[in-house]
Amino acid sequence: MRIVVAEMSHETNTFSPVVTDLARFSGGGALPLEGDAALKVFRGTATGLGGFIAVCEDAGAEIVLPIAAGAAPSGPVENDAFEYVAGKIVAAIARGCDAVMLDLHGAMVTKTYDDGEGELLRRIRAVAPHVPIAVALDMHANLYPETVERADVIAGYQTYPHVDMDGTARRAGRALLAMLAGKAKPTMVWGNAPMLPHVMRQGTDDHPNRELQARAKQMEADGALAVSLFTGFPHADIAQAGLSVVVVTDGNRALAEQWRDELLDQAWNDRAAFVYRPEPLAESVARAKTLGATAGDGAVILLDHYDNTASGGTMDTTEVLAEILRQGLDDVAVFGIFDPAAVQQMVASGVGTAVTVSLGGKLPMPSVPRQSKPLTVTGRVKLISDGRFPATVAMSRGLTMNMGTTAVLSSGGVDIVVISRHIEPFDPGCFTSVGINPTKHKYLMLKSRIHYRVGFKKLARAIVECAGVGVCTSDYSELTFKKVRRPIYPLDGVNSRF
Ligand SMILES: [Zn+2]
Repeated sequence: MRIVVAEMSHETNTFSPVVTDLARFSGGGALPLEGDAALKVFRGTATGLGGFIAVCEDAGAEIVLPIAAGAAPSGPVENDAFEYVAGKIVAAIARGCDAVMLDLHGAMVTKTYDDGEGELLRRIRAVAPHVPIAVALDMHANLYPETVERADVIAGYQTYPHVDMDGTARRAGRALLAMLAGKAKPTMVWGNAPMLPHVMRQGTDDHPNRELQARAKQMEADGALAVSLFTGFPHADIAQAGLSVVVVTDGNRALAEQWRDELLDQAWNDRAAFVYRPEPLAESVARAKTLGATAGDGAVILLDHYDNTASGGTMDTTEVLAEILRQGLDDVAVFGIFDPAAVQQMVASGVGTAVTVSLGGKLPMPSVPRQSKPLTVTGRVKLISDGRFPATVAMSRGLTMNMGTTAVLSSGGVDIVVISRHIEPFDPGCFTSVGINPTKHKYLMLKSRIHYRVGFKKLARAIVECAGVGVCTSDYSELTFKKVRRPIYPLDGVNSRF
């Protein structure tokens, strides 16, 4: 049995100016990994590919892995990058296989296609109309009907932070193997609700997504092959952005539809709990300062959530950092500011030297009304690093994270990690690998929304959400939606679903 296993994963923020070219899919290398090199890197990791590889090897299947292409969230995918990656996958399938397992995202938009995954699957179906296909998707998928129609089994993450990436691939892969063995007849239905849940309210530790995902898991325990509630990714101005549900049963369409409708009803009834209301930045930072001034264990974490890396932020906006400096918080570690030019200036200056850098605020953001300004910071270059560290937390464990050339700029009581590649701060290694012990600081500033919880929540005594500036703005009124289907909650305050 020969199975094609491949990854093409990107969450597209259509408001982001960060370019998504082939290099971004390459993990810092020249091209995405292929074949045995990719198998070696991903086998045993807590990733979608790691999960698919495990189920295939458990089943004794021959794995063909044409490409492992995952890019950090950013703007629409460049056409040549999409053509390169899709071309590798389609060519491998066209050479012949018994099944296909794809690690996709579900919210990939390219310069040409609003539904990147649907286009990839269309091309696959053109060369292999009947080959069984399993797809693993992110909880932030913005699902189009064509994606569902062209796959046999879809499973999505049930956790946010996404600590079940490998588990999701295993759910999808096992259902497909059961189908291949003639032991199951996957019957898949889907539906959506006209709502854009706010990312800051989607964490599965919290109501209402905690209960929604728990119900989906219960349906699987009660016999469904896979049940997925996709909260969707709202920073994508495409028709199908928003919440959706996919239910796969073993041959029971009526039950699949009943469970789908139950989850959609539950999500819709909880819609107000998915709405987020930002607080003025100066108030948040003042509150954090007060919290840090009282005795207690653990850091006060300030979340710069308007510039969240894992939602396509430029990672170079400086307003939250500037407010931290203005209000004089001390003993702060910051992750991080994306500024390759500032890193190069510090490399040239050398470790231990004093520097004045113009930090961040360099990428224009034409899609949002407020722009970030560079921040002039004088300090000492504390450390230079190649920016690589092994992920050790449940999300991506076993993979090498790559921040690019990295410098730590120490200014007064603030240590700022300045990086050359975008990564989300979910693993404490982003600090410890550059000599910063996050348990020893009074304050941590993180450009994160929910994923920080994987590695940092247990270190925190308090979390303060700080409204800065950026293309992941938590204020929908800063975004201009032209293509998303209307009416949609909460943009239009609709009270009726249809
Ligand atoms: Zn996600």
